[in-house]
Amino acid sequence: MPIDVIRLLDALDEALGDVARPVPLHEPLFGEAEAQAVARAVTDGWVSSAAPDVAAFERKLCEITGAAHAVATVNGTAALHLALLGAGVRPGDEVLMPPLTFVATANAAVHAGAVPHFVDVEAQRCGLDPAALAERLQAVAERRDGRPLNRETGRRIAAVCLVHVFGIPACDEEVRAVCREWNLPLVEDAAEALGSRRHGRHVGRIGRTAALSFNGNKIVTTGGGGAILADDPTLAARLRHLATTARCAHPWRQRHDRTAFNYRMPGLNAALGAAQLERLADLIAAKEKLGERYRAALDGLPGVDLLAAPSDSRPNHWLHVLRLDVEDLEERDALLAAMHERGLMARPVWDLLHRLPMYEDAPRGPLPTAERLEPRLVCLPSGAGIVRERRCDQAGSMGSSAS
Ligand SMILES: *Cc1c(COP(=O)(O)O)cnc(C)c1O
Repeated sequence: MPIDVIRLLDALDEALGDVARPVPLHEPLFGEAEAQAVARAVTDGWVSSAAPDVAAFERKLCEITGAAHAVATVNGTAALHLALLGAGVRPGDEVLMPPLTFVATANAAVHAGAVPHFVDVEAQRCGLDPAALAERLQAVAERRDGRPLNRETGRRIAAVCLVHVFGIPACDEEVRAVCREWNLPLVEDAAEALGSRRHGRHVGRIGRTAALSFNGNKIVTTGGGGAILADDPTLAARLRHLATTARCAHPWRQRHDRTAFNYRMPGLNAALGAAQLERLADLIAAKEKLGERYRAALDGLPGVDLLAAPSDSRPNHWLHVLRLDVEDLEERDALLAAMHERGLMARPVWDLLHRLPMYEDAPRGPLPTAERLEPRLVCLPSGAGIVRERRCDQAGSMGSSAS
């Protein structure tokens, strides 16, 4: 059934209401609390990663997610890099991951000296498909010293990284079951999924570690930032040490006991983040409301629907994503061009990672679902400010100025 472009555009316009055009894909939402928190950090002089705000931000993350430990980092990519090192990924290894994700997932594996190995996603949640994972391991792996070895490449398969895309929880328990069968550590890329739950549990609690991101486009932002979640106290301490140039604790000595990273989140960012976390429930509610508006406006349009998390999950509604009945990228791009003409700054989903020049030779299994989804997924303007004043404590006065 062909898509009625005019009706689709009218429906999106209706859902967005009278918010100023063009409508960006995403915008942060700040209030007076954020401004005061950053100003206080400046006034107090506690701006570096030694600031008490960093520990306070980490404690809040633990409260929200239920994790025993959180290590705040400069960005989500750094968090993923450390998480993979913590899972035992070493140079020359392979990390199994989906191709339908932000490029950072694969980049982090390469930063750890490993090679991404792509496995297909399932169509409902767009996350790593546990059946495809099991089949791929069956097809290429043999057990060597209790761990899988890729017999086609001769490399050790060291970890699995699943991704909760758009804030929709992936099949985490099912993926973990496959990981257990093969004695593989699981790392969760929960960069987009702060506040998302499945089976009542916050995402990022199934794997050995999980990575969060607080980039400017995520549901909660610190400007730039990330965090690792972990339950194992030894592992959390090791990753914190690695993120802090392996500086040994001492009142005045400057000693470092290995080559490590300068990956800790600065206090200035943590101060902003702690104020943002107070707003998380509000942000989720505003985004959920926007999703309901989109859903109501799109109802009955042939060839169009909105991705939805299955009933076992409570997603954070970070990004609303259209699933369009289109066959190819040209048809999708024509639709995107029409949306942009209307002032709707929609975006296609990422180019699949195995199509990028640096990953086109990376090992991979069959990827029919990811390839079928690629032209069909279009990300819609999803800022919480669309249904709520952007500066929520100063309704009206600051309007919706650009970020
Ligand atoms: C944002 C994001 C990251 C990386 O986060 P940065 O903070 O931008 O480094 C990783 N994975 C996914 C899926 C993301 O969306």
